[in-house]
Amino acid sequence: MSAIIIDGKAIAAKVNAETAAETEKLVREKGVRPGLAVILAGEDPASQVYVSRKVKMCGELGIDSRKILLPADVSQDTLLGIIRDLNNDPAIHGILVQSPAPKQISEQAVVRAIDPRKDVDCFHPENVGKVFLGDLSGFLPCTPWGISVLLAESGISTAGKHAVILGRSAIVGRPMAALLLAKGAGGDATVTICHSRTKDLASFTRQADIVIAALGIPRFLKADMIREGAVVVDVGINRIPAPETKTGSRLVGDVDYEPVAEKAGAITPVPGGVGPMTIAMLMKNTLRAVRMAEQD
Ligand code: NDP
Repeated sequence: MSAIIIDGKAIAAKVNAETAAETEKLVREKGVRPGLAVILAGEDPASQVYVSRKVKMCGELGIDSRKILLPADVSQDTLLGIIRDLNNDPAIHGILVQSPAPKQISEQAVVRAIDPRKDVDCFHPENVGKVFLGDLSGFLPCTPWGISVLLAESGISTAGKHAVILGRSAIVGRPMAALLLAKGAGGDATVTICHSRTKDLASFTRQADIVIAALGIPRFLKADMIREGAVVVDVGINRIPAPETKTGSRLVGDVDYEPVAEKAGAITPVPGGVGPMTIAMLMKNTLRAVRMAEQD
């Protein structure tokens, strides 16, 4: 058996086309253009790439963007002051601070300083709390939401399925569990979360109808850890040395892709799986932010 390859690029393109159309309608009918502020402190190369991609995508979809670059030694007070100004700026609907923040900055303080109505990353405790209570009417966590859309667009129902999530981070593992547990479409699953202290992790993954790997360990999930026909979602983005390539490195996921794809029923590739969805859902949250501002 060979798995269906879930094409994240194509599904993200479809989501982005909807966002562009809705943005155009918003501008035409209400004269409001969504605006996203992206703050980057420091010069981490991977963060620079992520920020450029987000800003570029805004441009492609008709969303205004404001890139705010700060030195690596920026003080927390300065950063919080900038966030306060953006909270009060009616042209800005969404605010995000690219992580990781420099070490003198408390990420928790930053997340709590952002107006929950502008929290397009869905990191603020108020928005996280809503999601965990099963209220999906506000912002949704970008990567898990993207995974839900990937599954739905591939005709994979989660209702009554056993989903096993590898990783308990606040960005991926935990909010993924919340979406899968919610009542209704995209939810209604039975959820297990595994982490570094889990004993006999493979005994859980072998029971899974759906495995979501978000550990940050290259090729962690092996073929003998899944059952025949399972759906495998690979969230991992790991750069490994590859002397045979021009750049000397390449990206791999948390799944041992080729052997797992032989056994799985469906699988997301890396790159071109979950990655493009995260940005697509960020753009959708930015549109939702306009609706939140209207509710004032
Ligand atoms: P974190 O490092 O925050 O969390 C990793 C999780 O994996 C932790 O819960 C950790 O457990 C668990 N873990 C680590 N080692 C093991 C092990 N040997 N066995 C079981 N569990 C283990 O990572 P993130 O959630 O932020 O990211 C995970 C991966 O996803 C990364 O590769 C990241 O680059 C990628 N990513 C991709 C995105 C996308 O858009 N495609 C978006 C966000 C992340 P413990 O809590 O016990 O330490």
